[in-house]
Amino acid sequence: MQLKDVLILNGFKFNKRYGQNFLTDKNLLSSIVEKAGVTKEDTVVEIGVGGGTLTSAICERAKRVIGFEIDKNLEPVLKTTLAEFSNVEIIFKDIMKVKTEELEKYIGGEYRVVANLPYYITTPILMKFIEEGSKIKSICVTVQDEVASRLCAEAGTSEYGAITAGIDVVGNAKKIMKIDKKMFYPVPNVDSAVVNIEIDRNKYQGIDLNAYRNVVRAAFSSRRKTLVNNLMNSFKLTREDAEKAVGAIGKGVMVRGETLSTQDFVLLSTVLKNKSY
Ligand code: SAM
Repeated sequence: MQLKDVLILNGFKFNKRYGQNFLTDKNLLSSIVEKAGVTKEDTVVEIGVGGGTLTSAICERAKRVIGFEIDKNLEPVLKTTLAEFSNVEIIFKDIMKVKTEELEKYIGGEYRVVANLPYYITTPILMKFIEEGSKIKSICVTVQDEVASRLCAEAGTSEYGAITAGIDVVGNAKKIMKIDKKMFYPVPNVDSAVVNIEIDRNKYQGIDLNAYRNVVRAAFSSRRKTLVNNLMNSFKLTREDAEKAVGAIGKGVMVRGETLSTQDFVLLSTVLKNKSY
């Protein structure tokens, strides 16, 4: 049976608040899961199970699937669409209220995240897993195309932002596929894209991630201001000290935060932390 029919038979009403735009094309879903690198050895966490179409494609390739869904009205739908799979469990909870540490204890080993994310909460969900997850191998997310470009942007471009630098310090993000809006049901306003992030926690060894994130946050706190001004405001530094810190990483006093690469932010956070300016 088609997902649309199962939804109708169960009297399901789409809840706009939850960003419910479902993917139904089996070839597309299978291709996403393949490109996410999911194998029979993998445990996969899916965020926002919806009607279970992506879940089914993951179940076919993974060892174990743990899916989260906020909308309990989807329970009877999922009983039908996932009936044939014994390697899946669905947890009806708001993912933002799930403690990552407890989830990781429950999983008991490494895992991948695969999700067609609700658009209203894309960034908080991503940052939650990037910042709190310690056992994640990869995160493969379908997001609005514009957001996908931001996740993979180069330093100095208009798409580059705090989230780009936040991801790049612990992983490598790549846009792997575009998805036309017509592939979703109901059809949203904009096209989407799939981004795969391979996590590499040793990419910058020995760095203090909290210090790094504080510096990135400061650098992007006001895009119109220079890095020196943003550092002065965020860290209560004197102009002289802020200029010295920026100079210590080989940058001029007029430089703006969005031109700094991940490597620059790593250096700057170390300089500021050790006061070595
Ligand atoms: N995975 C399905 C697919 O690809 O067709 C559904 C994707 S749909 C874009 C996003 C799903 O996330 C919806 O089913 C929505 O109810 C669910 N959702 C929204 N906010 C959530 C949250 N905070 N926690 C868990 N699920 C959420």
